Amino acid sequence: MDEALLAWFDRESRDLPWRRTRDAYAILVSEVMLQQTQVERVVPRYERWIDRWPTAEALAAASSADVIVEWQGLGYNRRAISLHRAAKHVAEHGWPADLTVLPGVGPYTAAAVRNFALGEDVLPRDVNVERVERRTGHVFSASAAQALMDLGATVCLARIPRCSECPLAAECPSVGTRDEPARKQSRFEGSFRQRRAATLRAVAQAPRRVSEVDPEVVRSLATDGLVVIEDDVVALPTY
Ligand code: SF4
Repeated sequence: MDEALLAWFDRESRDLPWRRTRDAYAILVSEVMLQQTQVERVVPRYERWIDRWPTAEALAAASSADVIVEWQGLGYNRRAISLHRAAKHVAEHGWPADLTVLPGVGPYTAAAVRNFALGEDVLPRDVNVERVERRTGHVFSASAAQALMDLGATVCLARIPRCSECPLAAECPSVGTRDEPARKQSRFEGSFRQRRAATLRAVAQAPRRVSEVDPEVVRSLATDGLVVIEDDVVALPTY
């Protein structure tokens, strides 16, 4: 199956900017952005980020406020703080042997950096990869990682797989089957997440009195290190 998949990938692979590098920092930035944001939205933001902070050292030297503002619009802003802290760790101590000690880096992101940047023989399994392996009943090699991700994202879709376009259809025992609808992502409109995003946007424009903004939200943002509160004024962190 790996061969059929890789031949398909040769023809159909998506040209994504983080696929043109093997730099561990650049791969880490892309993976953290991709954790909860769609590829199309990530591409221009990733390019801007790498232009602005091309190395872990450059990012480590940036202020938290600049990092938070640059992240605006990607959502789940805690990721920006984690990425900043990870860059500081790398700038100070180098890359750790166990990448999961870096803030915001779980087993999947660590495996992705090890494969895509360091060329290690480890297959990063995200939901797309797990779905293709479950449906085909095949365990793919690490070299198929990018191909599997593309297949899961564009052909072996969660709800209605496009089996007629699939290079694995001849050998796949699940050809023509569908999954039950997945649980829908909770609504953003009116959610606590939306309140957090709106408050952070307001504070990024200018410091505010706590009483002017949503105090519950401000406390949660402060806990995540996204804002600081001093003398009843909430602002972006200056360190
Ligand atoms: S044949 Fe269908 S179910 Fe099987 S891997 Fe391809 S798209 Fe997925």
